[in-house]
Amino acid sequence: MDNAGTKMLQTAHDIIKKVAYDLRLDDETVKRIIDPEELHEYSFTVPNQNGLSRLYKGYRIQHNSALGPYKGGIRFHPNVTKEEVQALATLMSIKCAVAGLPFGGGKGGVAVDPKLLSEAELEALSRAYAKKIAAVIGPTVDIPAPDINTNPKIMAWMLDEYIKTANDKKKSTDQTQLLATFTGKPVEKGGTLGRTEATGRGGVFILQALLKKLNLGKNRLTVAVQGFGNVGYYFAKISEESGFKLVGLSDSKGAVFVKEGLSVESTLRCKKERGSVAGCYCRGSVCDIRYGETITNQELLELPVDILVPAALENIINEDNMRKIRAKIIVEMANGPTTEEAFDYLHKKGVVIVPDVLANSGGVTVSYLEWYQNMHNEKWTENGVNKRLQKMVEASFDSVWQTSQEKKISLKQAAFEVAIERIVSKVRIAP
Ligand code: NAD
Repeated sequence: MDNAGTKMLQTAHDIIKKVAYDLRLDDETVKRIIDPEELHEYSFTVPNQNGLSRLYKGYRIQHNSALGPYKGGIRFHPNVTKEEVQALATLMSIKCAVAGLPFGGGKGGVAVDPKLLSEAELEALSRAYAKKIAAVIGPTVDIPAPDINTNPKIMAWMLDEYIKTANDKKKSTDQTQLLATFTGKPVEKGGTLGRTEATGRGGVFILQALLKKLNLGKNRLTVAVQGFGNVGYYFAKISEESGFKLVGLSDSKGAVFVKEGLSVESTLRCKKERGSVAGCYCRGSVCDIRYGETITNQELLELPVDILVPAALENIINEDNMRKIRAKIIVEMANGPTTEEAFDYLHKKGVVIVPDVLANSGGVTVSYLEWYQNMHNEKWTENGVNKRLQKMVEASFDSVWQTSQEKKISLKQAAFEVAIERIVSKVRIAP
């Protein structure tokens, strides 16, 4: 049994049980929230470029559909296990419920290192997995999306395979609605404008809503972002455009600190040339874009900033470094960046932590908007999508904030309470 996946699942169950206890839910209801409704496990072979076939293990776990069709990404990663997928599916039920979406939670994955595959092999694997899950997904049943190492191109291959199967089985004649089976598609294949930026943009909207409540909305606050991928880059770029002072950025190779504030676009240009953000700023040398310095990834987390934004890895704020964290606010854009121990310590110290299930829900919110456009045969402008995103994430933030204020609990506890109460309100249990 895999340890990391098992631990992740245990952590998800522990917090649900704790919140359920505080909400005084009965055992049967707790079981209904914890147990997945359907576990699909597949062993399938895919030919490689030498004509030999390789065996893969894949999963689709449909956790809870009380609020609507299952929703959640598909991950291609060597560490994928049933327990990990189940944990992620469980957290998707919570995230969709916090976000106020008419979706439940699901997740899929294949244990594979896609970096070792050729493009043709990756396509064959994606199509083979899609064929396997085709019987259990659909626009009103289960709606997958990209996750780690999967992207719009892979969604397009999977959708194509799904549509062939659905048409073979005459499951539906409405081709536009069939597009809604996958989100995170390329725009020309029914994807939505604004999806690429959505997670980062949603995070900035939520941060702004928090600062208004804390009466810090007018200040030019300093921000450090760990990770310069999809989420980190757009969070940094959009927060800079919104008036925050970005002083720290990092990627897997190192970090930079520019006390006077850095330029996200110049950093991106430099990263493209050098292969990393480290070294883009240095004191008194030719590589100086502005006066700044290269620091370690660890030092980035310990910077004396107003807002720290982990947007890369799990468990990076932990027992080893929690006493050195100096930020007043942490916005968890990555999934699970703060361990339970570190969370409790920092929360007690007065650090405001916006939990991942709320902070990064902009991504699944725009996935919902993509699904909605497909289901209603509509196409919205990017501005139209962003406005709806803002309204929706602000509404989710408000519910969580209100609960945390009324009950004097952390935003994380409040987010889980809001989500679980929404799910429970739809779970019908026989008297
Ligand atoms: P990504 O692969 O695009 O980017 C990850 C970034 O992390 C890269 O810049 C990489 O260099 C950096 N990184 C890796 N190791 C690092 C280290 N030791 N220190 C600093 N940086 C390091 O991934 P992403 O899509 O941006 O996702 C980031 C996180 O956000 C993940 O936890 C993911 O599950 C979560 N998330 C993503 C989305 C989404 O829409 N993409 C939605 C919700 C949650």
